[in-house]
Amino acid sequence: MKYALVTGGSRGIGKAICKQLAEDGFSVIINYRSNDEEANKTLSEIKEKGGNAELLKFDISNIDDIENALEKWADENEGSYIEVLVNNAGIRKDNLQVFMQNDEWNDVINTNLNSFFYVTRRLLKDMLVKKNGRIINIVSLSGLKGMPGQTNYSAAKAGVIGATKSLSQEIARKRVTANCVAPGFIKTDMIEELDEKQFRNIIPMRRFGKPEEVANVVSFLASEKSSYITGEVISVSGGIN
Ligand code: NDP
Repeated sequence: MKYALVTGGSRGIGKAICKQLAEDGFSVIINYRSNDEEANKTLSEIKEKGGNAELLKFDISNIDDIENALEKWADENEGSYIEVLVNNAGIRKDNLQVFMQNDEWNDVINTNLNSFFYVTRRLLKDMLVKKNGRIINIVSLSGLKGMPGQTNYSAAKAGVIGATKSLSQEIARKRVTANCVAPGFIKTDMIEELDEKQFRNIIPMRRFGKPEEVANVVSFLASEKSSYITGEVISVSGGIN
């Protein structure tokens, strides 16, 4: 059994990634924080199609929660290891920097950046020992270009991009790759308050993207087909550069 862990796999982009990786033959570990109903829905949809999946609820912004959940999983699955890690879960707490509160800064950094460090470090050892692994980080256009109102989010995503580039060079010899996927505007709960019509003009393809369009790139990066690609950032943004 080949295992793939997707953080924030219960809704939005993470859900599409879970469904695609299950179709690709992985046994998918669906992480989420609180919404049991949506997580169970994702699990059932995968199982209905004959895929393998399980839920693993933990808060990726909390190091103890991460360690406990992943240790428990390892104990219950002795002899197995997670060979694909998709660091997908993320939150936004937008505000202009001049008004930004400490918790708006810290929550976004903990969830979007620190989680990358803690979850990846925990799973990396097994990948290196087995000389096989894929680390795929979902970042954002905001981490490449910056966006007003998102200094916290841009800093976190740019931080993950920098860390991915360093990490990829540390682990390349062991046949473990680390890459980023940078979505533009993708139709999920995260951007439900944005009016697509208002943003069309800044998107060359004149539409928001679908979660499945991000999942297709993750599927490629998780596969053997991407074996010589590491340290890269692939944008899925309808042409926004
Ligand atoms: P959604 O808000 O639709 O879904 C977020 C997912 O992350 C949910 O499964 C949620 O679980 C989970 N999650 C949030 N916080 C935590 C936490 N602390 N611990 C564990 N799970 C958590 O987000 P999207 O699908 O839109 O975004 C996915 C990724 O893509 C994010 O990293 C985001 O920054 C990035 N992105 C999204 C863009 C977009 O336009 N949508 C654009 C660029 C990047 P629960 O349901 O339990 O809350």
